[in-house]
Amino acid sequence: MDSIKALRGFRDIYGEEIEKFALIEAASRKHLKLLGYKELEIPVLEKTELFKRSIGDTTDIVEKEMFTFIDRSGDSVTVRPEGTAGVVRAYLQGSFHAKERVSKLFTMGPMFRHERPQKGRFRQFYQMDVEVFGISEPMADAELIWMISLILKDLGLANYTIEINSVGCRECREGFRDALLGFLGSRKDGLCEDCVNRLDRNPLRVFDCKNEQCGEVIREAPVLFDHLCSGCKEHFDACLDRLTRFGVAFVLNKRLVRGLDYYTRTVFEVTSDDLGAQKAFLAGGRYDNLVHEMGGPSVPGCGFAIGMERLSLLIPTLPPKGAPLYFLATVGDRAGELVIPILRSFVASGLPLAYAVPARSLKSQMKYANSLGADHVLILSDEEVSRGVILVRNMQDGTQKEVPLETHSLPILVMQ
Ligand SMILES: [Zn+2]
Ligand SMILES: [Zn+2]
Repeated sequence: MDSIKALRGFRDIYGEEIEKFALIEAASRKHLKLLGYKELEIPVLEKTELFKRSIGDTTDIVEKEMFTFIDRSGDSVTVRPEGTAGVVRAYLQGSFHAKERVSKLFTMGPMFRHERPQKGRFRQFYQMDVEVFGISEPMADAELIWMISLILKDLGLANYTIEINSVGCRECREGFRDALLGFLGSRKDGLCEDCVNRLDRNPLRVFDCKNEQCGEVIREAPVLFDHLCSGCKEHFDACLDRLTRFGVAFVLNKRLVRGLDYYTRTVFEVTSDDLGAQKAFLAGGRYDNLVHEMGGPSVPGCGFAIGMERLSLLIPTLPPKGAPLYFLATVGDRAGELVIPILRSFVASGLPLAYAVPARSLKSQMKYANSLGADHVLILSDEEVSRGVILVRNMQDGTQKEVPLETHSLPILVMQ
């Protein structure tokens, strides 16, 4: 019988990759705590309506990529394709806005999109999602981006670029829309079918099209950056000024847009040439209208999400492990009975101790200890038990010593 495999685009994560996930999480948590963020856990499954309203009906995510189905009660539900919509829903449902002026929240976990699987992109992928509510000043945007640079520095990342842009507000978009429609109308022949359909509904979405032909047209299109209203221009300049004062290096990319409708003003991506064509591994921005559009009061917000898979591809090889690993090899019944007391005293002392079950020949146990990368092997046969000693072999230099077989103080005796 064939064994059952995971679904296409879904996979198991283990080994060095999951250790790198843990490093990203630890570096993120350290700085999130320093800057006053609180953790939040939100459901993986939500009403489909939540994502339609927040991300936007005409986006690629909603039109093509969501895992949406009718559940047993006949309701349309969706496994979350991103984190912000759920965090905003939780923020409103928990009345955070009534309890605190500023809410700084983060959550992490799997997201789901029905995309074509490719390098570092999967249908179930993991994100660290960070959101700030209640601050309209550009200090919030700058502090977020500064924190990102601190997290990446902790992870040893060197080759990356912070790209930043402003996508303006409703006011500046009105003027830009006309300029863009005029341009795209004259270049209709060069656009894919999807983009032609988008012209009437949401011409800004043309900027996210992955079609190469459309890419050529887009490269010549007018940019929103040149149509920013004075308020948005001022906000953006102030954001860049604060970034400079935080000592963060960035690149202005006037063509940067995000594939979600809710962004206003600041948007940013962190990219690396080491990732190939789709080089962003972190993205975010400001969404000043989203909370209100989701049925809440008018509360500004901004945030970002780290793509764990793609960032882990960029983390240099893991540093050597910290604590030394001990291995206990036993030969004979009397020795075997001492495994439990010895294991208990090692774990109580905070020292890792591995052992083989079942304990076969000494040779096979030594081989196993080697495969685990043990630094020291404790060798105990019935003969040593009778003499009241245990052998400690240093696997690096091959030297061996005898220490008294005193279970309780064994970790200390072994380390001396
Ligand atoms: Zn504006
Ligand atoms: Zn297109």
